[in-house]
Amino acid sequence: MDDPETGRHRALSGSGAEPGKPFAQVATRALEWLLPPTCPGCRAQVSAPGGLCPDCWERITFLGNPQCSTCGFPFTFQVGPLGGEETLCGDCAREHPPWKRARAAFSYDDASRDLVLAFKHADRTDWAPLFAAWLERAGAELIGDADVIVPVPLHWMRLYTRRYNQAAEIARALSNRAAVPFAPQLLVRPKRSKSQGRLGRRARFLNVQGVFRVPSHQMAALEGKCVLLIDDVLTTGATVGTAAKALLSAGARQVDVLTLARVVRT
Ligand SMILES: [Zn+2]
Ligand SMILES: [Zn+2]
Repeated sequence: MDDPETGRHRALSGSGAEPGKPFAQVATRALEWLLPPTCPGCRAQVSAPGGLCPDCWERITFLGNPQCSTCGFPFTFQVGPLGGEETLCGDCAREHPPWKRARAAFSYDDASRDLVLAFKHADRTDWAPLFAAWLERAGAELIGDADVIVPVPLHWMRLYTRRYNQAAEIARALSNRAAVPFAPQLLVRPKRSKSQGRLGRRARFLNVQGVFRVPSHQMAALEGKCVLLIDDVLTTGATVGTAAKALLSAGARQVDVLTLARVVRT
């Protein structure tokens, strides 16, 4: 546990009743058993925990084929050969991103924003198994090829203030579901960067330049591996693209990207 980021993560957000787990977390877990289950999308009461209410199912735009084979941009109709193996969107045709394939479970829009933000900032890590099930469906092909699942790491100071890394939460839940090893130690974020939220496209790429690194003692473990990189939202692809480059230049054979949501600009 020589890396402050992964070390802290493991200490704070492991599952089960490990020694030293803060009392507040145990109390929250107990409350979840007592209170009626609510919908992650709108907090309406639902009959069973871990699912959306019918209204939210209707509103959230789940993504799938037909789509750009490289970045997962959804097409309204099939534009290439059936099966869409090599169907690229305009952006990917102009410049191929560093990763091989990116997929997302749903569109990041007005209907899904609260869901994503609450997962990121409001301690709703209990939704991770539900999100992992969605990721499993959206990224079945990618998961089938993956040797390891790696979350996009946070800088340790940001992890300290947020208390958990939302990408690591879904990555671990997906790893449990799909029986692909969870390997957060393969990628670290030693350099701080500004929040990408208010930056334009070009500034986003500059902001994350050089922020990720594969620790030298992990390079042998990464060598020749097909990595499935997990993040919560894909916007311009600057963050996952930079992370993919770091993994590839340190010896990964291939990097695919799976995110909970993606911005769909038309
Ligand atoms: Zn709902
Ligand atoms: Zn594309």
